[in-house]
Amino acid sequence: MRYILSLGGNLGDVEATMRSAIRRIAMLGIVPLESKVYESEPWGFEAKERFKNMTIELDTGLEPLALLDELQRIEREMGRDHKTIDGQYQSRNIDIDILLCDERVVDTERLTIPHKLMHLREFALAPTAEHWADWWHPILGKTVGELLAQLG
Ligand code: AMP
Repeated sequence: MRYILSLGGNLGDVEATMRSAIRRIAMLGIVPLESKVYESEPWGFEAKERFKNMTIELDTGLEPLALLDELQRIEREMGRDHKTIDGQYQSRNIDIDILLCDERVVDTERLTIPHKLMHLREFALAPTAEHWADWWHPILGKTVGELLAQLG
């Protein structure tokens, strides 16, 4: 199966955390393509750090729910406290979402594919349009490129 995954975060060295997450994700199959890292302004009052997002493709034999289990395990591993050089603990935050799986539709309590909010989120669509603009959204009947254009 071909999956599109969205990685994002705003805490700590997000790019290093994303690199490390991609190394772990690549152990689940093959990651043939990655988008660049995109930055967006924080939308909450509390969020001081800019958000960074990127999209990757994962080709794997794992079924969607089995993949979700693996991604949640990786999120937990990446979210663990890591000791920094000066001895302070710092939380590392990363969010991994499954955006698309081939042209499949999954609608269970734990998992919705295509991701419910992807068509409303520029930070999900813009990186995805970089390499996968022609990918078909099986519910909305539009390509990723068309969904991004529609956001305006
Ligand atoms: P969040 O912490 O906002 O990323 O939400 C995680 C929750 O969303 C988990 O409990 C998942 O079971 C659920 N979920 C539903 N659809 C998806 C999806 N396409 N990708 C990742 N998590 C999903």
